[in-house]
Amino acid sequence: MSSLRRLFNRVSGRPEEDYSSYNSMVKTPPPGRVTARDDPNHEIWKPQSFVGDQTAEGRIPFFNTGFAVCPKCGERNIWRFEEKAGVRANGDTYGTEIFRCRTKGCGWKTSFLYNDGTTSCKYYETSHWPKGVHYFPNSFMLMWADKHDLGSSIKHQFFLKKLTGNMLTDMEQEGSMEEKLEIKKKEVEKICRALKKPLTAVLTRKASKK
Ligand SMILES: [Zn+2]
Repeated sequence: MSSLRRLFNRVSGRPEEDYSSYNSMVKTPPPGRVTARDDPNHEIWKPQSFVGDQTAEGRIPFFNTGFAVCPKCGERNIWRFEEKAGVRANGDTYGTEIFRCRTKGCGWKTSFLYNDGTTSCKYYETSHWPKGVHYFPNSFMLMWADKHDLGSSIKHQFFLKKLTGNMLTDMEQEGSMEEKLEIKKKEVEKICRALKKPLTAVLTRKASKK
């Protein structure tokens, strides 16, 4: 016990043996009256934390890949881990989910707050985030083109022009896709149809396999 804590206990009149970090955790459960007996994981009751990249530039594209592809190195090599912060009476848990890229030399990581109890969206921070190819880097755009079977000539242009998600949505708004990407009208329509299905921006391995 630190001398500061001892001093605090003396001043506050709290008996010393009552205080330990373990006791403070198991004796002050959050709403839901969960005790150490209900859940042997005594590490719950910690605050929800934030880990790694918390920028929109990293997290919005990552979210839009379905939490599947690393925005730094472009690999589908994400490891995830839930850090429980607490358990509600009905068994719902909440906490922080940490995502880390396992690619050697990359090490990109981020975290999202989660709550099993929210029906619409487990990661409630993202409930109003833009869905689509926003901020997608060029490597993601190539995967996205694959996923929507956009064909090799479109993909080739995506590659040549180093096209990003923002560039494509700008072109869509300006109506300049045909000219800037040097593709046919039919191909433009194909891309626009794919863009109108924002949920299918998701680049999970299963969805992208053909
Ligand atoms: Zn990575």
